[in-house]
Amino acid sequence: MKFRKPLTIMSRTSSVTNGFVQAIIPSVEPTTEEVVEALAVLGMTLETVECIYCGAAATDWDHLQPLVRKKRPTGYINEIRNLVPACGPCNQSKSGADWHRWIQSSARNSPRTKGIPDLADRIERLQRFVAWGKVEALDLCGLAGAEAWAAYWEHLGAIERAMKEAQTNAVQVQKAIRKSLETRDLSDHEITFDGPEPVVEEVLNSERLEGRPTR
Ligand SMILES: [Zn+2]
Repeated sequence: MKFRKPLTIMSRTSSVTNGFVQAIIPSVEPTTEEVVEALAVLGMTLETVECIYCGAAATDWDHLQPLVRKKRPTGYINEIRNLVPACGPCNQSKSGADWHRWIQSSARNSPRTKGIPDLADRIERLQRFVAWGKVEALDLCGLAGAEAWAAYWEHLGAIERAMKEAQTNAVQVQKAIRKSLETRDLSDHEITFDGPEPVVEEVLNSERLEGRPTR
């Protein structure tokens, strides 16, 4: 069994960013009829719903156009016209990538990597969905007003700075703990302390598939 690499405080940056984006973007809760209509465009019903990318059981609603890119909102929102049923592995693998490029990429767990046979058909259904949905990115900054917008993101900047500072502190605390532990008999256990690892991009653009998207 593999041990998980220790996380740093900075590994959580994308979760915090995601919270900041989710907290301000509009959500339009669909009616059942709208969910049925969206699924029909994808060639599915509520009974036959499956991951649009690979055909596995659907567990999530994936934002076809990601909500977050480069740590800022893309302007796309929570609405059924931007949500497609997906499985967890596809949702996580796609993350903030462009869906069309990702499907045919060699990314881990991408449909092409998984050798999905009817890829061309799935791409066609998704293109039909895009043409039906006609979603456009909102100019959130313009809508909010530049001043309110800047003030809002300054909160995130302050949190990130505090997290960086806390991480520096964490290294010192960890060193102190290790030093204290060294005085004990731990010959049976190799305790390793790795340095900070690169920020892990978490799943930012997912909704749990439970009936209908709620956020
Ligand atoms: Zn899938």
